[in-house]
Amino acid sequence: MAGPWQDVVRSAAAVEEAARVAVDAALLAGVLMRTEGEPNSSDVVNYAPFTLLPSAVPAVLFEQAYAVQQDFNLLVDAISQNKEFLERTLASTIKVDDFTAQLFRIHTQVLEEGLAQSVFLGINRSDYMFDTGLDGTPALKQIEINTIAASFGGLTSRTAAVHGQVLKVLGKTEEASRLLPNNPSKGLALGIVKAWELYGSPSAVVMFLVEEVQRNIFDQRCIENELWNRNIRVIRRRFRDVFEKGSLGDGRRLYVDGQEVAVVYYREGYVPKNYDQQNWEARLLLERSRAVKCPDIATQLAGTKKVQQEICRPGTLETLLPGRAEAVARIRATFTGLYSLDMGEEGDRIADMAIADPDRFVLKPQREGGGNNLYGEELRQVLERIRDSPERTSYILMDKIKPQPAVNYLLRAHSPLHPSECISELGIFGVYVRQGKEMVMNKAAGHLLRTKAIEHADGGVAAGVAVLDTPYLL
Ligand code: ADP
Ligand code: MG
Repeated sequence: MAGPWQDVVRSAAAVEEAARVAVDAALLAGVLMRTEGEPNSSDVVNYAPFTLLPSAVPAVLFEQAYAVQQDFNLLVDAISQNKEFLERTLASTIKVDDFTAQLFRIHTQVLEEGLAQSVFLGINRSDYMFDTGLDGTPALKQIEINTIAASFGGLTSRTAAVHGQVLKVLGKTEEASRLLPNNPSKGLALGIVKAWELYGSPSAVVMFLVEEVQRNIFDQRCIENELWNRNIRVIRRRFRDVFEKGSLGDGRRLYVDGQEVAVVYYREGYVPKNYDQQNWEARLLLERSRAVKCPDIATQLAGTKKVQQEICRPGTLETLLPGRAEAVARIRATFTGLYSLDMGEEGDRIADMAIADPDRFVLKPQREGGGNNLYGEELRQVLERIRDSPERTSYILMDKIKPQPAVNYLLRAHSPLHPSECISELGIFGVYVRQGKEMVMNKAAGHLLRTKAIEHADGGVAAGVAVLDTPYLL
């Protein structure tokens, strides 16, 4: 694609100078990550990887993505409350996928006991790519929606300023002034604040549930700081701290280290490696409690890839969002082909279709965090091997989205500067709060643009593949 910066990238000297400025600007702005070598210490930090130049994004698609976000919030929330739908949809998956099965067991157990939680907080991020149609017109197509631990809302609140400065250094002052402000840190924090207020215990804290390895702590600190600025106390704890020092009091109020917890914000717990037996017990304790979980376990299940595939079936959205035909149409417009590999004739036909033409598809297991999907020849081999085994039902199949590449420079510590053909993925953050049956907040809270070199089929920023970017609307 003839990007907007063709003239500037012709001068290697100008690019090098701009890159030096960009890195220092990122460090000053706090676009930071801890290092791979010392992931739990802030003694040595580095800048989070980012593009030198903002990437072109079609303005109409950007607006479309914002316009559908409240619909997706409603949809996720509706699915999370629909016990029968989750049960039916995940029935085949939980037979073969232990992780989803364990989440589902906790979900069932807390429903049987009866929910102590009455305030619900959802923070999600719906991710898209711009698919190039046969006539070259790009279309907004959803990759997935993340309903737990959706990250980079903090750091990306600080990248637009860095890209603005880069453009100025490159003599593009007018273009710099057109970069949109973006502050998911604040938007997400306001959702947490609302949930904390509705919980109604002024001395209770917000607990960030964090991983053992905390390389991306600065992203989380951005949101924490918004809460401290509003005089809300924040603590950071791991599952194992909850296992050792967590308990339920009167009315199943949650206490950790003797402090009452109003909101549990998970930045952990989304992949099997986050759990051992103790951590599962801690998760169960949290889910049984009255505290507002962001997300509750039902909402985490609503974000599984199997659910994404099932809601694509004709008629399903209509039953999940009755009386909301316009929302349904907006949501459906972002779907690309998604196919079930459940055992039976339909699944056989789908498997054969993918084996015959693997480059048209992506094969996805029920996993988050990047680096799990299968493409091309590998997809074909795996599907051939599991074609007649129930194992295939732990995957879904999806049409491959094919965006138009553009040249950019990916800035990473200790990496040489060179141009790469890149593609971008746009994420929109959603935040909502429900009290009982009533939605009291439903918003789009900002965006995230991530860009990667085309040779990588898969993987996000945390996985070391994609880098932070800023949209430049065309
Ligand atoms: P994860 O939960 O691991 O993030 P995703 O569904 O987001 O799983 O897939 C990971 C990455 O794989 C995406 O960020 C994107 O780069 C690529 N990808 C996923 N689905 C598709 C698709 N249908 N077409 C093209 N690329 C895809
Ligand atoms: Mg993803």
